[in-house]
Amino acid sequence: VATSSCPACGANAFVAGRGGGGTCSSCGYSSGEENRCPHCKAVARIEGSGLQAVCAVCGGPRVPENLGGEAAANALREQKKALANARTASVATVLQAIGAAFVTLAGLAAAPESIVGKAIVFALAVVPLFLALRSRGRAQTSRAFAKSAGERAWLAAAEEVAASSKAGVTVPGLAKKLGIEPPHAEKLLTELTVHDRTRIDVGDDAEVRYSTGPSQFRVEAEKELAEESELVDDVGSSEREGRTR
Ligand SMILES: [Zn+2]
Ligand SMILES: [Zn+2]
Repeated sequence: VATSSCPACGANAFVAGRGGGGTCSSCGYSSGEENRCPHCKAVARIEGSGLQAVCAVCGGPRVPENLGGEAAANALREQKKALANARTASVATVLQAIGAAFVTLAGLAAAPESIVGKAIVFALAVVPLFLALRSRGRAQTSRAFAKSAGERAWLAAAEEVAASSKAGVTVPGLAKKLGIEPPHAEKLLTELTVHDRTRIDVGDDAEVRYSTGPSQFRVEAEKELAEESELVDDVGSSEREGRTR
């Protein structure tokens, strides 16, 4: 990675970003729109890497250099909101579980003789228990939603990387660009291909490349098809023109 001297600390550790800014790996100084946080809007460096990458200022989830544009930014905002909901629900779960335990203990200590007294104690203990179970369910739902929103953000980022290179991107290339492990990069590219958002080509160097343009196979197949149709054109030309017009 090419480095230059950092405008803040002077160390030769400043890595230029894609939008004219960059980040210093020594002091953490960041500049440029590519480092603007989609949550707090501060120009701030990213802490951690991969799915653990967060804004150094607000702690919200981020992708490197805001790759993936608005699609990724929106998904990251949804992810942050869902994570906050999950935390709230988790805290509620703990408090309600403590409440259930407290009421149960108090009921056991009081040990009412009558059936009605026992029923009241039972009912008082069941309500916080029910609330605790409901909160736990909500926390799980929010966590699952946060996970899928995060995946959408990284897919959008991977798609932009694939689209930015005409020849396409390889698994190691994407892993390096996004600062993630190759298995994660491969998962993202496979997912994009499954949903027809990227295409696969195998180059002369036997490297698998993922791109958003038309694949070499398809271009060649279409060329052959066009040549074939020219051969039979004498017979069906008037009919074909009528159809395509
Ligand atoms: Zn610096
Ligand atoms: Zn932030």
